[in-house]
Amino acid sequence: MRYDGPTQLYIDGEWTPAVDGGTIETLDPATEETYATVACATAKDVSRAVAAADAAVERGSEWRTMGPSDRGGLLHAMADEIEGMADEITLVESHDNGKTPFEAGLDVDMAVDTFRYYAGWTDKLTGETIPVPGDRLDYTLREPVGVTAHIAPWNYPFQLAGRSLAPALACGNTAVLKPSNTTPLSALYYAKAAEAADLPDGVLNVIPGTGSEVGSTLVNESAVDHVAFTGSTGVGKHIMSEAADNVTGVTLELGGKGPNVVFPDADLEAASKGVHYGIFMNCGQMCWAGSRLLVHKDIHDEVVDRVVARAEATPLGSGIDDDGRMGPAVSESHRDDVLEYIQLGVDEGATVVAGGGVPEDTDQGYFIEPTVFTDVTNDMQIAREEIFGPVLSVIEFSNFEEALEIANDSPFGLSAGVWTTDIDKAHAAASRLDYGMISVNEYPQTFPQTPFGGYKESGLGREQGMEAIREYTQAKNVNINVGLDTQ
Ligand code: NDP
Repeated sequence: MRYDGPTQLYIDGEWTPAVDGGTIETLDPATEETYATVACATAKDVSRAVAAADAAVERGSEWRTMGPSDRGGLLHAMADEIEGMADEITLVESHDNGKTPFEAGLDVDMAVDTFRYYAGWTDKLTGETIPVPGDRLDYTLREPVGVTAHIAPWNYPFQLAGRSLAPALACGNTAVLKPSNTTPLSALYYAKAAEAADLPDGVLNVIPGTGSEVGSTLVNESAVDHVAFTGSTGVGKHIMSEAADNVTGVTLELGGKGPNVVFPDADLEAASKGVHYGIFMNCGQMCWAGSRLLVHKDIHDEVVDRVVARAEATPLGSGIDDDGRMGPAVSESHRDDVLEYIQLGVDEGATVVAGGGVPEDTDQGYFIEPTVFTDVTNDMQIAREEIFGPVLSVIEFSNFEEALEIANDSPFGLSAGVWTTDIDKAHAAASRLDYGMISVNEYPQTFPQTPFGGYKESGLGREQGMEAIREYTQAKNVNINVGLDTQ
């Protein structure tokens, strides 16, 4: 089945080919066949898109002077448009990324909810009055930062683009979105939604292209005021250093190595189910994957048996086949990277107790077996580095203190899970885990209303919730001497 969605760049309210006429060909990772060909932007298109976004956010522009409720109405209209195209976007995402329609459908639902949530923020962006000494009125205004660039990864292409676009637009900014060239398609549906909802020209621009050219040029554009980046820690660090040249603000949502900590008093059936979901959903290609299972020695064998049984019973399926609960890796090269990590785990002395390679009965698609390693120690590379695939490392602990020590001994700090029926233990663990998000007795979990982001090398700043409002507005302080005649 061929793609028949949008194929052009969207700049200043127009669908347009790339200036140099370049294109990107995308593969369906379940069939290894070409699925779509879309325009591929270059630096010249970045200049066009940024100029359009800059003009659209100037003081006096339609977008800047629009009433906050009207802006909220436009974001609600965008949410409605996305919802109206949900089935189509789901299918496109499924073909482009390989995730199952069930998973892709959740992503689209989350994007709709996120747009609705931030539509409700537009008329609630208030500053504050500040008590200061003397006869003065002192207050802050919250103003948009200006042009925002959004650089999105391939693992949740639609949902993660919307996660930063919605608050940026709600706060009165304009946006240029660059999806990953591995999965460029669903981003173009934001442009369709913006066009149908009648957003002013230039407010949202979408330019698929490569990270090395389009992403890097965006970061270095002096007219870009904020970069919302979601991707690997390595590229995030590079972007942060490049953004320093223009003192451009950054939000960095980076990698993770989430510990899922199971205490002996946990509901083991629920924990096993949560552990399985937390590592094998989306073929394990998740920043917040629970890729380290920390399990108490007394229940180690029982929990491992349950998780292995679930892993072995997980059907692998074509990206468009919902009977298959785990889709393929996004590309051949990514599958090979994951397989290299599995070999590394074996070489390091860990034991494969489930999966461990490519399924024998598949002759096409970049599938990987759900893989579980036991006998892992936290100093092994498979326990320290983000594999970004369906590979679980099981590490045993003896007591609460040791569990927290192992959990916190990581360069990452995105998301951690705690499984216990002891409420005191749950709170104690939550307060002492060095992670931006803690889920107790389910994993992982997030909502548009709750902050998403990491400690340590997992990122900087927060998306979602009220926290994102701070990322996409800047405070202006106004001090008025109201007692002039008394001085
Ligand atoms: P990458 O860092 O490779 O790429 C992310 C985005 O950055 C892509 O759009 C890519 O473009 C672009 N890019 C690459 N190089 C540059 C550059 N020099 N300048 C500007 N942009 C650039 O990550 P992946 O796409 O491989 O995504 C996986 C990573 O994302 C994992 O580490 C994962 O943990 C993390 N992630 C974090 C999340 C979070 O919320 N914390 C959520 C989801 C993923 P292109 O692909 O076109 O080259």
